[in-house]
Amino acid sequence: MRRILWFLLRLGVVIALAVWVAQRPGTVRLDWQGYIIQTEVGVVALALLAVGVVAYMLVRLLLLLWRSPRRLGAGRRTGRRTRGYQALSQGLLAVAAGDGPAATRLAGKADGLLNEPALTLLLSAQAAQLAGDEAQAATHFAAMRDRGATLKRPDMAFVGVRGLALQALATGDTQRALTLAQEASTLRPKARWPLLTQFDLQARAGDWTAAAATLDALTSAKALPVETLRRHRAALLVERSRVAEAEGNEDQALSLARKAHDLAPGFVPAAVQASRLLAASGSARAATRALEQAWRLTPHPALAAAWGLAGEKPGDAADPLARVKRLEALVALDPGVPEAHAALAQAAAEARLWGLARGHLTRALTLRPSARVYRQLAAVAVAEHGPGPEERGHLASAAKAPADPAWVCGACGGVNPAWGARCGHCGGFDTLVWRLPGGATASPAVDTLGFLPPPEPPAKGPAEGDDDGAQRRLPTFTLASLRPGRRSP
Ligand SMILES: [Zn+2]
Repeated sequence: MRRILWFLLRLGVVIALAVWVAQRPGTVRLDWQGYIIQTEVGVVALALLAVGVVAYMLVRLLLLLWRSPRRLGAGRRTGRRTRGYQALSQGLLAVAAGDGPAATRLAGKADGLLNEPALTLLLSAQAAQLAGDEAQAATHFAAMRDRGATLKRPDMAFVGVRGLALQALATGDTQRALTLAQEASTLRPKARWPLLTQFDLQARAGDWTAAAATLDALTSAKALPVETLRRHRAALLVERSRVAEAEGNEDQALSLARKAHDLAPGFVPAAVQASRLLAASGSARAATRALEQAWRLTPHPALAAAWGLAGEKPGDAADPLARVKRLEALVALDPGVPEAHAALAQAAAEARLWGLARGHLTRALTLRPSARVYRQLAAVAVAEHGPGPEERGHLASAAKAPADPAWVCGACGGVNPAWGARCGHCGGFDTLVWRLPGGATASPAVDTLGFLPPPEPPAKGPAEGDDDGAQRRLPTFTLASLRPGRRSP
């Protein structure tokens, strides 16, 4: 509409000019070098208009000819880019479809057409992995790392390092994996998987001090839930306290154990370690206080056993009667806890108080049937009367009784005879839970260290990845992690 108005306006101006000239007739005379031209004003105006139109068209034509090569080049470049991205997306689909040869061919094509080394190298690496050519994939990952460094693109180098680290983990080269995870952390200090990988590897290797430093970084990166971080920290402190104790640094051992107990008062290994060291340093009352605090949260046989020993100094001769007295105080705390009766019965049997031992074992059985308590009854029977039908009766009951709780690994289900920060079966860190062995119906696995989960919100639940070395799940790469505007974790 506006164009039509504009055209009509211009037409009007031309017509008005023509009318204006026609209403003022006259002649124009040109006398130049003996040539004389004489004509009407209207003709001159028309001639000038014609010359103007021709000149304008000539200029447009010249400009078009001048610009066309550049336009053609730009068109060709756009075409290349379009075909390059087409090859890239088809290559991605081929990877997703598990079509190795097509992925390799399309990766090569995309690489030739596009100047996007991060994307095309990653696709090439994925295609090589799909084809089972890990060496070729490693070459591409290393190229990503090197070119990322040269091009000052840490995101690209990070993905290359991650690829190499996962390869090292898959082949069991933990030392190289650790070095690469540390390198990834320097590229992105807050990224989650490098820290989790470092922590996991350090903990599995029993390098508690290094693991504690990594746990600090995990804490500042908010990479794990607060409760999990606290449990991990307490477990590390107990292990460090044990190491210090074994090296003869009793003060340091006590300080570490107390930190662990303060951090997690219901954590049985911390309370046992702290109370033992406190008792050894002569603070029997503080030792008992630590045990009581833990006992009220988790009545565990190890706490009861430590309670019985809490008044004894290392050099003292064992005094079974004093132990019985101390455990009577534990039973008095809550007479409804079978573990207290079983511990008291054990001390009574050591003091040869058979009647007392039997009485508390029977009480423990009425509170909760237990194979362990039946075996204790059998042992009392043997100690008092020697082997015979009474012993056999208790052993038969033990065989039929429900199993007792144990330190069960939440990751592999293995039963560990004693608590350790590492599972004796799978090496998982802080995976042991005091619960009934076997059935998955018991308390759910807790504190499995989430390892390399693909999508990464700032802090995620603890059980998103199983962490047992044998069945480590290696996430596959996705180009989504490299898409502009979305940073890979
Ligand atoms: Zn395990």
